[in-house]
Amino acid sequence: MAANPDFTLSGASTAVPGLESTFADEFGDLTVPWKGAQAPDPALLVLNEQLAAELRLDAAVLRSEEGVGVLSGSAVPDRAAPVAMAYAGHQFGGYAPLLGDGRALLLGELADQGGRRVDLHLKGSGPTPFSRGGDGFAVVGPMLREYLVSEAMYALGIPTTRALSVVATGAHVPRNGLEPGAVLARIAASHLRVGTFEFAVRRGEVLPRLAEYAIGRHYPELTELPATGDGNRYLRFFEAVVEAQASLVAKWMLTGFVHGVMNTDNTTISGETIDYGPCAFLDAFDPAAVFSSIDHGGRYAFGNQPAVLKWNLARFAETLLPLMAPTPDDAITAATGVLDTFDERYDAHYTTGIAAKIGVAGTHIDRALVDDLLSLMEESGADWTGTFRALAEELRGHSASLDGLLPRTAIGPWLERWNEVLAQQGRGPAATADAMDEVNPLYIPRNHQVDAALRAATDGDLSPFTTLLEVVTHPFGRRDEWSDYAGPAPRQFTESFQTFCGT
Ligand code: AMP
Ligand code: MG
Repeated sequence: MAANPDFTLSGASTAVPGLESTFADEFGDLTVPWKGAQAPDPALLVLNEQLAAELRLDAAVLRSEEGVGVLSGSAVPDRAAPVAMAYAGHQFGGYAPLLGDGRALLLGELADQGGRRVDLHLKGSGPTPFSRGGDGFAVVGPMLREYLVSEAMYALGIPTTRALSVVATGAHVPRNGLEPGAVLARIAASHLRVGTFEFAVRRGEVLPRLAEYAIGRHYPELTELPATGDGNRYLRFFEAVVEAQASLVAKWMLTGFVHGVMNTDNTTISGETIDYGPCAFLDAFDPAAVFSSIDHGGRYAFGNQPAVLKWNLARFAETLLPLMAPTPDDAITAATGVLDTFDERYDAHYTTGIAAKIGVAGTHIDRALVDDLLSLMEESGADWTGTFRALAEELRGHSASLDGLLPRTAIGPWLERWNEVLAQQGRGPAATADAMDEVNPLYIPRNHQVDAALRAATDGDLSPFTTLLEVVTHPFGRRDEWSDYAGPAPRQFTESFQTFCGT
């Protein structure tokens, strides 16, 4: 692929030492050397000092002019080989043969404190050969949104890419009128996606190399397995991704998270949540909930997420067929055998998780008890997050919270059944309530709060964002001064609330 004509290492910076570029070095056929646009007046809006420390980066240096230069994409770190990555993807079910980083760069890889290799990636750093019709830029609101929601997900214990910083570039980008430009620095186990494999499979010999790289990086325990035969490492690799993604989507479903754009280019090989464009959290429980302005058919509705994920994994399996067995028939049989385990794996993760949410320990739970609660919640439009905390309060003898969510006539008989199950379990109500509060968040990024914080930030006031970030990164322990953050959005807000891609 053609390189950026003015690609030079001018402005090389030592602010991010130790960057490696194993992916760029090994996959010239999947990358284009590139560099970011010059930010006219870069200013750091938020820096994740805790994450910087985990990456052994010096926060003071990152805050310096040199550091902000790197985090804005204007300066290239010393010895780095930044690239735009190529990938394909199924978007809303239709195949797009060439997507790629249209406004992003892989700066390189860092080793974290535990010795794990992670990607340092910039989003909003300017046009690339993959920009297609897009301008290559991003703006303050959506980049702070990704920062906030990904850090909230991390605090909730959900595998996710993380946010290192957001820098305002000083440029004005056309969106709703002109909006302030911004660049997000993102840390990920890697940026390999199902879409990376969909791109590679059409380019022959790169596919086995890509599979080896992905196995070595994400599932190193499989590297010693044989390349052929029944339990070959490619089949086990597929199985490992199926397991990681089944576990991930179960966590989304337990938290009321709607990703919003589950295209195969947004489905990672690592099992981390990636890309927080049109995502949202449920207030009222509704399997049909859709927030994205472009998801007219509800393909990525809350309740469809496990099925869509399985569909995406089928697209992934197709890319690996040539490696899985010598004949297409055998490969399809083997891949189908693994794909068919998705539902069971998902159910196991979901069931264990939902049992814990209602205070039932272990993996055995009467599914009817769960399903009946969900039906009652759906009928009443009960707040997903609030209901589980209210059930714990009910065990403590405080009925007001639950009364505000579900009519007592409807929930009463269910509570009796639930209390019987809890009594059999033998753990006292107080201990059960405490255990529930450890898995049921009180504070999630509520859509109206996120919206208000991002509007203020776009207008230059970061304080609502800073407070909200503090709240959502401490989701479980109640604090009196945060009472405004625990409730759902006013109904009129939710009725018109929409989210957007590529902003
Ligand atoms: P997403 O929906 O954010 O995962 O993006 C899907 C594709 O659109 C990716 O190839 C992005 O790089 C590209 N894209 C999104 N926004 C822009 C933009 N403003 N300029 C160029 N490419 C973009
Ligand atoms: Mg994406």
